[in-house]
Amino acid sequence: KDLLLEVNNLCVDYFASNGAVHAVRDVSFVLRRGEILGLAGESGCGKSTLAYAISRLLRPPAYITGGQVLYYPRGHEGGATAAVQSKLPKKGRLTGSNGDEAIDVLQLSPSELRAFRWSEVSIVFQSAMNALNPVMSVGDQIIDVLKAHRPDMGPNQRKKRAIELLNLVGIASDRLNSYPHELSGGMRQRAVIAIALALNPELIIMDEPTTALDVVVQREILQLISDLCREFNTALLFITHDLSLLLELSDQIAIMYAGKMVEKASSVAIYDHPRHPYSHGLLNAFPNLHGPIRKMVGIPGSPPDLRFIPSGCPFRERCPLAFEACSEVVPQLQPASLENQQQLAACHLYDRKFRPQGAPSAAEV
Ligand code: SF4
Ligand code: MG
Repeated sequence: KDLLLEVNNLCVDYFASNGAVHAVRDVSFVLRRGEILGLAGESGCGKSTLAYAISRLLRPPAYITGGQVLYYPRGHEGGATAAVQSKLPKKGRLTGSNGDEAIDVLQLSPSELRAFRWSEVSIVFQSAMNALNPVMSVGDQIIDVLKAHRPDMGPNQRKKRAIELLNLVGIASDRLNSYPHELSGGMRQRAVIAIALALNPELIIMDEPTTALDVVVQREILQLISDLCREFNTALLFITHDLSLLLELSDQIAIMYAGKMVEKASSVAIYDHPRHPYSHGLLNAFPNLHGPIRKMVGIPGSPPDLRFIPSGCPFRERCPLAFEACSEVVPQLQPASLENQQQLAACHLYDRKFRPQGAPSAAEV
């Protein structure tokens, strides 16, 4: 699959009066077209900050202090894509790591950002169902987005598209004129997803969009969004602290700890053979509704204060396997499995340079 988004060495700091909080630290990853990437980690690990940074929605005192976010637009095609492409900057395009033309998201002007955010990337943030306008029908809210971004559509086409979108998310056409308060929480959430899909974005970013809903409705809605993304080959960056949900719905999973990405691999690899000791802890800490029952052990201790980053591995104070090198050298993401070079972990146990004699081998971790 081709590259869609490439994040290189991204750093975000919150400048508080009592010191800078290093919320995202040197994070790099790629997302391919149509891929579902789940981002997991305890609260405060930097996953939301990362999503806000990628979408250029950070507000002071948070600042991007380093790194690059590259977006690979599609080649010229007809229809909406061409209209949108014309709003993305032509100047200042870079050549990305695969040789294709890329846009530097961190350099977009406010008007370019508006085109980028709706037409290329849709963002659904926490308690999204409250993001609906209470005094406007859901149909009109969809039509409004189309009006603003699809000047080529006439009123009838827009209405037709609004109905089509509502149907896609399982809302009957006769709800077109309903107001948000006339819909259940789950239906409001579906309406938000319909709006996010309105312009056929290449990427949808969702940050714990369903936490206000009960677990069963949450699952239904996440299943719906991942089905729709697969149907339209839309990439999805999905954030939650619930790893068992991600295991079911994502292609790839990235696990963050103390502002760093500590493991990235396919969901299958993470489920079968998590490599990072923190991933082990998370897997044991979350029950899986469908798989075999796993012991819930939790992870004793708490993450480090992100104002004072400890030396070496950020997980070392909680890691049952820590050894000498762990307090001296920061582990980097690197292949952590001989059979699967795509499984990356930032842990010295997988590095010959550091692994002490007699340390538990990868297989035992
Ligand atoms: Fe544990 Fe050391 Fe690996 Fe960090 S680098 S996770 S402390 S074994
Ligand atoms: Mg969060």
